[in-house]
Amino acid sequence: MSVSLKGLDHGSRKKLKKWLPLLEKVNQLGSKMTFLSDKELRDYADKLKRRATEEPLNNLVIESFALVREASKRATGLYPYDVQVLGGFALYYGHIAEMNTGEGKTLVAAMPSFTMALLGRGVHVVTVNDYLAKRDADDIGRIHRFLGMSVGCVLQDMKDDERRRAYACDITYITNSELGFDYLRDNKVYNLKDRVQRELFYCIIDEVDSVLIDESRTPLIISTVRSDTKDLYVRCNAIVAELVRGDAHKELSKMDVLSGVRQQENGDYIVDEKNRTVHLTPRGVKTVERLLGINNYASIEHDSLRHYIQIALQAHGLYKRDVDYVVNNGIVEIVDIFTGRIAHGRRFSDGLHQALEAKEGVKISDESVVEATITYQNFFNKYVEKAGMTGTARSSAKEFDVIYHLQVVTIPPNRPLIRKDEADYVYLTKDAKRRAVLKMIVECHKKGQPVLVGTTTIEESEIFSELLKKKHIPHNVLNAKNYAVEANIIATAGEFGQVTIATNMAGRGTDIKLTDASRAAGGLFVIGTERHEARRIDNQLRGRSGRQGDPGRSRFCLSLEDDVTRLFGAERTIAMLRGLGAKENEPIVHHAVHKLIENAQKKIEDNYFSVRKSLLDFDLVNNEQRELIYAQRNTILNGGNPDRFMSRLVDQVAVQLVNNYFDGPRDAWQMDGFLAEWHSIFGDTFTLSTDKEVMYRRAMDVAHDAYRKKMDKYALLSELRDMERYVILTAIDGCWLQHLAYLDHLRQGIQFYAYGQQDPVLVYKDKAYTGFEALLNAIAFNAVCFFFEIQPGDNPEVYQSSNLSRTPEELLKVDPFEVSEEEILLHQQEVESKDESLDGQVSNEVSNDSEGQMDESSVTLETEDKSDMSNDFESETDESGNLLDENDVNEDEANVGVTDEENEDDESSELMGQELLDSKAEIDDKG
Ligand code: ADP
Ligand code: MG
Repeated sequence: MSVSLKGLDHGSRKKLKKWLPLLEKVNQLGSKMTFLSDKELRDYADKLKRRATEEPLNNLVIESFALVREASKRATGLYPYDVQVLGGFALYYGHIAEMNTGEGKTLVAAMPSFTMALLGRGVHVVTVNDYLAKRDADDIGRIHRFLGMSVGCVLQDMKDDERRRAYACDITYITNSELGFDYLRDNKVYNLKDRVQRELFYCIIDEVDSVLIDESRTPLIISTVRSDTKDLYVRCNAIVAELVRGDAHKELSKMDVLSGVRQQENGDYIVDEKNRTVHLTPRGVKTVERLLGINNYASIEHDSLRHYIQIALQAHGLYKRDVDYVVNNGIVEIVDIFTGRIAHGRRFSDGLHQALEAKEGVKISDESVVEATITYQNFFNKYVEKAGMTGTARSSAKEFDVIYHLQVVTIPPNRPLIRKDEADYVYLTKDAKRRAVLKMIVECHKKGQPVLVGTTTIEESEIFSELLKKKHIPHNVLNAKNYAVEANIIATAGEFGQVTIATNMAGRGTDIKLTDASRAAGGLFVIGTERHEARRIDNQLRGRSGRQGDPGRSRFCLSLEDDVTRLFGAERTIAMLRGLGAKENEPIVHHAVHKLIENAQKKIEDNYFSVRKSLLDFDLVNNEQRELIYAQRNTILNGGNPDRFMSRLVDQVAVQLVNNYFDGPRDAWQMDGFLAEWHSIFGDTFTLSTDKEVMYRRAMDVAHDAYRKKMDKYALLSELRDMERYVILTAIDGCWLQHLAYLDHLRQGIQFYAYGQQDPVLVYKDKAYTGFEALLNAIAFNAVCFFFEIQPGDNPEVYQSSNLSRTPEELLKVDPFEVSEEEILLHQQEVESKDESLDGQVSNEVSNDSEGQMDESSVTLETEDKSDMSNDFESETDESGNLLDENDVNEDEANVGVTDEENEDDESSELMGQELLDSKAEIDDKG
């Protein structure tokens, strides 16, 4: 066995050393497998399946891997290399296998996917596009089918029953977006049999960095349409178009921004490209007020106007045509910044898409209202086990660990990598850089060496294309605008004399093979023309060359005018270099330059990481609530007993009504209002009492009588239960939808108001929790109202989830954005006192966010407060003084206030009303 662990990082080496003996056993067993007949191999597989029900899977993994290896040889002609088996172990044990392009990761996945599928709980192999899902299901599926496993594939245009069949297979190939959307859709069904997915048990994510990092910045959203806001977009666009873009003369620190300092600004609005924000200057606010004909732009009543102005500002200030989006036949389409492709069908959220349409003067599409949403982070973390593979994970190892608890294991290549990665050429100007690139292409082309030129934008790829045309060099352009032929072009990019221009990651997953002639000419030469925002993506580009020991070279040609450097103080460096006599047409060799580029890229990476981390932090709050609501839905869907559920909701409404109308001192009680509302819901009369306690008891009694009478009207228990189930689900869905909008609104607001020194996530959490209480009350009200209104024999579908009698937001009596004078004052003081101490630290701190680091002053504060804080926790500790662990708490919670009789068929997941809130509070305390 000859696997070299040289040059690997410590962690990977440690893991691989542990697996080498396993590999040896797989090899030994493998030689015996060759003597088995096809039928005997299949019987072996069946035997493993049976054994998997009795023994731990770890006992079977050697046999299983050896079996798949032999089956692969017979079904596909490919015999997995030793390093591929090691990669298989990395996936089996739930890690990320980092293996270069061309190492054969698709085949690697065959071993762990088969092994995990022995458990019969379903394995998902996740790819980045439909083409790859189909290709891999066909190619690798052959091996699994050979061994008697069923293999399915879910594609975008499939109907529900096809999907359900594919998910029911032992192994399912599918794209990340189909997977996530099916999950969301499954949680909107009214009938269990309408679901398509089984449980989320084990997945292997191919191109895992693309899915879990690059794509995770945009959450998955299912939405419905509203069309009444088009005029607003047009109007706000017209206003912003009249504004004058200014600039700020001082670099603002994060603290400055937080505290609203806007120094030496001119014009109406300022674009901060570095932080990707746009804001109005005080003059701009005046201009907008004048153009809109309003007095106070900042007031709460103009919340939504501000929203539309703000996105119009973003559309004009931050989003560039042909870089961030393209306009094709009057349609605005997103350009995926990582693949450079048009992301067909994907849309910018929060109205930005409409704002861009208004800016481009094309037809404004309907605005969407979020019905269900989840981030990839939260979705993939639902799996019991997960694993991933890619050519480039190491530089994002920390993010994988922090967010997904995945470790990166680098697997050595099958054949040593001999590609030459040459030192960067850096030029003063873009023009000089382009000329140099062109010269290199011409030279290679002369001797027939294939060249792949990577650009970060479509615009740039077109510029190169024009330059090559002038030189009469035939070439292919691979970019967002001709996606259809992409796979073909990339497949031939390694042939003799080929010149291919591609936005950086176009064609991920398709292999570039050399021919004998192109190999002799030196193999594929990759030229990068700009650093990407993540080192990972640059490495992907280089990795297109040098597969399986092929010859090849790579070089990046950069300029100090490139976006990456321009935003990070390149001007000073340029001036300095010119001072030192740097020539335009010669590459600069100066350590300051390389340092500048390296730092700039690192800063951008860190910045994006914190954006994703912050998205996750916010979404974790949503996630807790989503889980509770989905669990609630599941209890109802799973049959359960809706009577008891409904009966609790009736209680809740009765109590709530008393609370609402009998608040404060006696003379403030609103008896008439109470009676009227009571009558409108329960239809019964009610005898009031002057004792509030009596009122509570009476309200519950009377409501229950009414409920029982209502139940008695149904001759069939099944009809009653169907009806109850329907109205409860309708109420949950309708209220949840409203609540999602509320959360969205809340989040935007929190960013606008920047609540002083408070952690915006905590503020969000707090306010989201209040909103959740309102949500639960709204669900109860709507379900109960629906139920009492409806008659046996009615078609329940007349009750649409959009016809809420009370929205959660109506029940939420406080304005979430109300900021008291004291709060503002406090905030200002805090800002003043912290301003100096923090200034200058902020920029390096971004990268530390993920580890929850705080500035030192707050750390000290906490230690001092420790003694007091421990008292606050007392109620959470058990007698021995230990913090209860999660399981203990759940068990205790589930039994509180539940009588034995009720406990009988009580599933532990059946939480309702107040209990839901309690369990929510419990999760909060953990956070
Ligand atoms: P990756 O995803 O790692 O870039 P692929 O899975 O696309 O690589 O495989 C690249 C090529 O290598 C494919 O043509 C595949 O058929 C071939 N290949 C993979 N494993 C083997 C093997 N063990 N022996 C021979 N060819 C292999
Ligand atoms: Mg691949």
